[in-house]
Amino acid sequence: MVYPVIVVGGGPVGLVAAHALSRAGVDFLLLEGRPDIVFHAGSDLVLTNSGMRVLNQLALLEPLDKVSTDLDVMQRVDHQGRNIGDIDFLAYQKEFFGLAPRVLSRHDISAVFYDSLPGSIKSRLLPNKRVASLASNANGDGVVVTCRDGSVYEASLVIGADGAHSIVRQQMRELAVQHNATLPADSMPAPVNDEQPFLTTFRCLWLRFPSVSAIPVGTTSETHGPIATTQLFAAEDTTVLALYERLDTPTRDRIHYTQADQDSVAARWGNLLAAKGSDMTIAQAWAARTESGLVNLEEGVVENWSFDGRVVLTGDAAHKFTPSTGAGCNNGIVDIVALVNELYPILPSSASPDRPMPGKHEVASALQRYQSKRHGAVTAGCAYSGQVTKSSSWADWQSWLVDRYVLQFKFVQRRLALMGATRDTAKTPVFSFIEGVDRKGGSVPWIKQMKAPTVVKV
Ligand SMILES: Cc1cc2nc3c(=O)[nH]c(=O)nc-3n(C[C@H](O)[C@H](O)[C@H](O)COP(=O)(O)OP(=O)(O)OC[C@H]3O[C@@H](n4cnc5c(N)ncnc54)[C@H](O)[C@@H]3O)c2cc1C
Repeated sequence: MVYPVIVVGGGPVGLVAAHALSRAGVDFLLLEGRPDIVFHAGSDLVLTNSGMRVLNQLALLEPLDKVSTDLDVMQRVDHQGRNIGDIDFLAYQKEFFGLAPRVLSRHDISAVFYDSLPGSIKSRLLPNKRVASLASNANGDGVVVTCRDGSVYEASLVIGADGAHSIVRQQMRELAVQHNATLPADSMPAPVNDEQPFLTTFRCLWLRFPSVSAIPVGTTSETHGPIATTQLFAAEDTTVLALYERLDTPTRDRIHYTQADQDSVAARWGNLLAAKGSDMTIAQAWAARTESGLVNLEEGVVENWSFDGRVVLTGDAAHKFTPSTGAGCNNGIVDIVALVNELYPILPSSASPDRPMPGKHEVASALQRYQSKRHGAVTAGCAYSGQVTKSSSWADWQSWLVDRYVLQFKFVQRRLALMGATRDTAKTPVFSFIEGVDRKGGSVPWIKQMKAPTVVKV
């Protein structure tokens, strides 16, 4: 059987792709390398209005309400625990778009996304399928996907939602190189991406500990200073603290850290305050931890997001942000909106079962339109989040000056927040083929309106 679409990766972005394709009535298979789609691991995520609007359209916001905690003022101290002024960016989001950003665990977001899928769709999500390679099919109009367990699947289009170290991205590059080797000298070659498109300047030690009364639920607190900066989000049961530490030398290599590496980062910054207003230190939070991890924070945007109308990248496979602005996953979700809006009118679906699978040139044009709608926004977002990580860790005197003194003025905060809201967030696309109603508006109007629900006349 040749599937119209195979999604590789069942992380948050792959699961949103499953929802979107299912709502579009497009047949697909999703291959996830881990033994379970929903698993207990990973830090917390903040959902912002751009992601939440789309999730509301997919009817996922209501179940998310039950497992997430609203965030408001972001408190800030320096490495000595001195107040350096609160930031109202999160509160402005509520004022501008109606909803407070909220924090939840990766487990809970995956559980909501997975549990909300209809049973018939869940059976298309296959765990324990770690993709090992992609190859061109015999006709050159599709892709053969081989998993590490030897199973083989074929699709007209492969969507890579397999994270920062994406095998789909690596294999897409390989396919482009092979394709170019067979071309006559005067033909236009397929673009070939850099082998290591992301640069790591920071790494992140994150830890989860049982919430404590000294750090009330909903607290958002940051510690700023040279080389390292922290973010803490307190939810009902657990609190997550992430410490971003600048590396001595930026690297493009993947690094697997050991427990000893985690211990040494925790020890180095153990005396920092976990949150403003509490005397809990990172050392104490570390001692109370129930989960932790040390990961590189790769940054960058892949130049070409598709190959030959047959492979396309989304989410962290296409772009990697530092977590400081809570934007990586939200942008991945919006990628799926832009991509499936392009695919919906051309792929065969339950609404148009007689529509033939389009030729790869038609799909290639759709994939190009998808990239052109997203590339500029994610490039700007990625640069911004890198800048925020840099300035919170006082990378140079200009960053220190802005972070320590300029940002504390509320009119500066408001101006910056409003600029981001009108220039970026308000333009967030929505699914063109799904009816929906925005939950609540704010003072900044959305540019794209949702398809109004059909009124049934009786
Ligand atoms: C500490 C930290 C905090 C963060 N906070 C935020 C935040 O507040 N807000 C936000 O928007 N973003 C945040 N992010 C970023 C966010 O986690 C990512 O942007 C998001 O997880 C990307 O989702 P994804 O589905 O594209 O990739 P991933 O989450 O990496 O999922 C990829 C999936 O693909 C699977 N996979 C990988 N290889 C294969 C293979 N070969 N075959 C089959 N399956 C495979 C993996 O098992 C995984 O399930 C944070 C990141 C970190 C590290």
